[in-house]
Amino acid sequence: MSFHDELTGLANKTLFDEKVDIAIKLYKNTHGKMLGVLYFDLDRFKLINDYLGHNIGDQILKIIAQRIQSSVRRNDIAARQGNDEFTILLDNVTKHEVDILAQRFADQIAEPIMIKGQEVFLTPSIGISLYPADGKNANDLIRKADMAMYHAKKEGRNNIQFYHANLEKNNSNRIILENELRKAIEKNEFILHYQPIIDLATNKINGVEALIRWEHPEQGIVLPDKFIPIAEETGMIIPIGEMVLRKACYQLKKWRESELLLPTISVNISIRQFYQPNLVSMIEQIINETSIEPNCLTIEITESMTMDVEKASIILNDLKNIGVNISIDDFGTGYSSLSYLKKFPIDNLKIDRSFISDIAKSKDDENIATMILLMADNLGLSVIAEGVETREQLGVLRQHRCNEAQGFLFSKPLAEDDMKEFLSNLP
Ligand code: C2E
Ligand code: CA
Ligand code: CA
Repeated sequence: MSFHDELTGLANKTLFDEKVDIAIKLYKNTHGKMLGVLYFDLDRFKLINDYLGHNIGDQILKIIAQRIQSSVRRNDIAARQGNDEFTILLDNVTKHEVDILAQRFADQIAEPIMIKGQEVFLTPSIGISLYPADGKNANDLIRKADMAMYHAKKEGRNNIQFYHANLEKNNSNRIILENELRKAIEKNEFILHYQPIIDLATNKINGVEALIRWEHPEQGIVLPDKFIPIAEETGMIIPIGEMVLRKACYQLKKWRESELLLPTISVNISIRQFYQPNLVSMIEQIINETSIEPNCLTIEITESMTMDVEKASIILNDLKNIGVNISIDDFGTGYSSLSYLKKFPIDNLKIDRSFISDIAKSKDDENIATMILLMADNLGLSVIAEGVETREQLGVLRQHRCNEAQGFLFSKPLAEDDMKEFLSNLP
């Protein structure tokens, strides 16, 4: 039985579990000291792995492992859980010390890595659980640190989060929300907002993205991040998604009829919808119903939906055959290989907001964004930057010849009437 990770020489999962359980047995509650379990993974590692190749990916993991090993204290244990995921056991620490140590690891990892003449930047997302507060054994503590790590990722990358019972309490709120959501479908409480997408060569509006809103009877407008994941898990996304597509196409028709200039409308599709057998025929029917031209409709999917390359490829080709456009949304955050892009009939890449937010400040994000722009250019794809908020960001994007942009700098998502006004006031 081996206890070490072959690639990095760190402890492996088995040894780590054992060390945590031993530390728990030896633990004595003195002066508020605790044990801390850090769980972290590297943000966007997959992208770098794909872009630079697995060999370099492995070398980077080794360098990261060395950095971790050299910054742990003498009695701490660092382990590789697999892939780009690592854990560290901190012995005899206060919560405050854990916080400081976690930040120190994050800083160490974020130092640029020079490899084959390229500078690579990586940041970790870190989740933390504490003994005795959060669990009784290694299993518990690691699971909870992992849960906190997912929360850290959700909060934005390069983030550190402690486990908190609220992460699990959310479950009961969830059941309430689920019931309300069911009623909302019956009562038709959903509306769409529209956010302009601007062509950077002409400064004209290229289209809008339709974004769903729930008009909750008590809470007011509820944003999609609150309910789309639940709709997705429960299957309610199927009727909701069809409603969104229909509304969006009817809206486009309506604007056209009032002679407002609006070339295209984009609609987000979730994974469950994507793999639903009648997706293509449903879209075709709505196009016929509203008699819009199919190439005025853009379907936005995310990288993660294309994991099953073969199936995805069939669906995407069918979509392309009925004439709609296809965008890859949140590009750069997913975990699929870049080589798949060549296989799919895709029109646009939308660079995720997280890369745009620091683009004018950080070389790291500028590098990733430029890398995406270069690659898209090679593949003949148009690139849309999401979440553009400042002139500085726009400047950098223009410099790298990004094709289109969307974000608060141009307009927030607008309700139907406000969108109509926006369109009427265009020069
Ligand atoms: P998304 O597709 O990435 O949509 C862009 C999100 O970024 C929108 O959030 C938009 O309001 C926000 N945004 C746009 N510009 C800026 C900016 O400059 N700064 C910042 N901070 N944010 C900006 P929203 O409307 O809350 O939607 C969140 C997500 O919910 C969407 O992300 C999409 O994944 C999902 N979603 C929205 N509508 C639908 C839908 O009809 N069906 C499905 N399946 N998912 C939807
Ligand atoms: Ca989108
Ligand atoms: Ca997006």
